[in-house]
Amino acid sequence: MKVIIVGAVAGGATVASQLRRINPNIEITIYEKDRDMSFANCGLPYYLGNVIEDRSSLVQSNPQQFLENKNITVHTYHEVTSIDTIKQTLTIHDIKNEKDINDAYDYLILSPGAKVVTLPQLNAPHVFSLRNLEDTDKIEAYIKKENVQTTLVIGAGYISLEMVENLKIRGLDVTLVHRNQDLFKNADKAIRKNIAPLLKENGVHIQLDDEVKQLDGKKVIFKSGKIASYDMIISAIGIQPNTAFLPKQIEKTESKHIKVNPFFQTNVQNIYALGDAVELSYAHVDLKTPLALAWPAHRAASLIAKNIDRNTKNQQPVPFVGIVGTSILKLFDQTFASVGIQEKDLDQFDVVTIEQTQKSNAGYMPNAQPITLIVHFEKSSRKLLRASACGKHGVDKRIDILSTLMKKSATVDELMDVEIAYSPPYASPKDIINMIGYKAQAY
Ligand SMILES: Cc1cc2nc3c(=O)[nH]c(=O)nc-3n(C[C@H](O)[C@H](O)[C@H](O)COP(=O)(O)OP(=O)(O)OC[C@H]3O[C@@H](n4cnc5c(N)ncnc54)[C@H](O)[C@@H]3O)c2cc1C
Repeated sequence: MKVIIVGAVAGGATVASQLRRINPNIEITIYEKDRDMSFANCGLPYYLGNVIEDRSSLVQSNPQQFLENKNITVHTYHEVTSIDTIKQTLTIHDIKNEKDINDAYDYLILSPGAKVVTLPQLNAPHVFSLRNLEDTDKIEAYIKKENVQTTLVIGAGYISLEMVENLKIRGLDVTLVHRNQDLFKNADKAIRKNIAPLLKENGVHIQLDDEVKQLDGKKVIFKSGKIASYDMIISAIGIQPNTAFLPKQIEKTESKHIKVNPFFQTNVQNIYALGDAVELSYAHVDLKTPLALAWPAHRAASLIAKNIDRNTKNQQPVPFVGIVGTSILKLFDQTFASVGIQEKDLDQFDVVTIEQTQKSNAGYMPNAQPITLIVHFEKSSRKLLRASACGKHGVDKRIDILSTLMKKSATVDELMDVEIAYSPPYASPKDIINMIGYKAQAY
């Protein structure tokens, strides 16, 4: 049996490794269009901030190691350009040798990820985006070669904000420009209002309700009429799924994400898909969303490997329970985290919102810092829908508790019974999680 995988980073390399772990006999081939495989995307901003000093720690494997240690063949610089879903064959462009080759599969697994959205006015040698290790190497080399001092970061998602923080930590002068006032839409409005003051406190210049209109060499002409020069520009205005090469037989959403069932099967027989390119279902409500984060890609990789193996043994496949969209951002000394449906989708429900600000742990301890936690639940079912939090520490713990409960479709009343690990340096006997549950009793 032969399995072909498209994409050799988070989803692709993981599903290949999981398959090999489960079944030593399957023939596994991965095609990757870019230079590298299996690197830690999530660590890239921290390498550029010199927080991670050793570049090699970001590289988890290479084709030689995959072949020697796992008997998995990886072809880098090989782009899959078309798929014949009837004959179960692929055409692949060998980029280095400038020729097309063909291959055939019994199962095909698509993990092509996403690509950055670009703007024509940003086409210049000092403008970069950050998606992979090659981009990282280019940015690092440019900063050193050109002795970059001033940078403009465009966008307000987590990659832009991580770049803002890391370039600042590196000692550069950083300006963030964003087309509206809404920095970091993952967080609730009431929480994200803290982000602009936090950036300013940390010496970041921010320019909101503005956009880059045109570049004139290093000079940037903004829509507002402002003109300023920057040595380097990082553009992080969004991503879109890498699905243009897929045949029309494979069903996609309006946003071009691949539709999958709870077993990560596409509508075409023997083709699975995972990662940033797919649309996922929530575990706790009947809604779907793409979710370009590492956890869902890794979970899907394990399930696909297991289900392909179970298929070969005529065993029932194991379904995915769904996502709850847990995400987290460190920004200087603050943490912003959220879980559940997006804030914009709350109006589809009859929602009650409870907000609580209290110390992360016993207020008399010197390390105690305020946490703000906002929890939204559905009034009729009392089911938890979404939560958003910020604070200096302890935010990850509270959001992870809520994530675990949301996966089980828990109600807000169950928060009263969360038995927190308490001792003064860590929590309070009536923790912020419990307090939300108590406050909700009024509704
Ligand atoms: C800078 C950065 C920081 C991040 N930080 C976090 C974080 O802190 N937390 C978190 O949860 N997530 C984070 N992510 C997101 C996370 O890395 C992705 O969700 C995850 O990598 C998705 O896995 P994937 O396999 O779908 O895509 P990828 O890992 O991007 O891999 C897709 C691969 O497919 C290849 N490919 C595409 N089309 C073809 C084709 N036709 N033929 C051959 N190969 C093809 C691409 O070249 C690419 O290498 C971050 C991402 C970036 C870029």
